[in-house]
Amino acid sequence: ESKRLKNSVHLFKDTMQERYLRNVNIEQALRSAIENHELYMVYQPQITADGTFYGVEALIRWNSPSLGNVPPDAFIPIAEASGQMPSLGRYIIETTFADIKQVQHSLGITFSTSINISARQLLEPDFATCFIEKMHQKDIKGIWLTLEITESLLIEDTPSILPLLNALKNNGVQLSMDDFGTGYSSLSMLRMLPIDELKIDKSFIDAALTNKDAQQMAQSIVTIGKNLEMDVVAEGIETKEQLEMLTRFGCDRFQGYYFARPMDKEALAHFVKDTLFP
Ligand code: C2E
Ligand code: CA
Ligand code: CA
Ligand code: CA
Repeated sequence: ESKRLKNSVHLFKDTMQERYLRNVNIEQALRSAIENHELYMVYQPQITADGTFYGVEALIRWNSPSLGNVPPDAFIPIAEASGQMPSLGRYIIETTFADIKQVQHSLGITFSTSINISARQLLEPDFATCFIEKMHQKDIKGIWLTLEITESLLIEDTPSILPLLNALKNNGVQLSMDDFGTGYSSLSMLRMLPIDELKIDKSFIDAALTNKDAQQMAQSIVTIGKNLEMDVVAEGIETKEQLEMLTRFGCDRFQGYYFARPMDKEALAHFVKDTLFP
């Protein structure tokens, strides 16, 4: 019995140590990932309630020769903690702008692009100025850009973030509250912030068909968003049943494997062409 306990303690220690080492490896490997061209962006289509193509969410991918495919959930927090977010953030914005410009130019159309902005990135002192400068350089109008910001960040630092959000808004940039429903934002705070869009967290969409509480949460989020004159987006839609339910609730847009997985810019150009000009 005691031997088994000892083994399990060892196992626990090893796992913690393994995780620590893996994080150190990620931090190290990430330092050269940009210059070694190991990072790229993929784009997941967003579809409107009447079934037409609306735009995309940009998502980063890392194919590391030593570590394999590392998911963004694993390396973005490490990039933030190790001071690598300024350069990674710039890379994300510049690559997305270049890719999207190229796809739009090849098709002769313009569509909306959402970019995820991490907490640290938004709090960099020159974030808004640099973002707006890059927009102008690439001749992209703010109205075609949405910044996805998570709820927790907006709650933690509302007063210092408000002027920054307003600067972006004054340049037409749209703001989206990502993973909505998982944090603890109050309705009064929601009203105070210049938010254009709510994204219902995937966990509610996952549970909505089988769990009454999750279903009611999803429906309430749509109602709150509508009352505050925001657009409401459901992400992580995997089935027709989920789509039908969220359509019934009044969601404006949908995103998920049911429609399309995130794809590289070449595949995106084909997807948009086939969807808009079949
Ligand atoms: P998120 O912003 O909530 O992104 C949605 C995630 O759900 C993405 O995972 C997407 O690939 C996945 N997804 C979309 N539809 C479905 C579906 O139908 N089923 C399932 N199971 N998953 C679906 P991904 O790309 O692994 O990104 C995870 C998180 O990493 C993102 O969550 C976001 O917080 C962060 N992230 C990704 N790219 C970036 C980036 O460029 N910058 C920043 N700051 N964060 C990023
Ligand atoms: Ca997002
Ligand atoms: Ca999300
Ligand atoms: Ca998420």
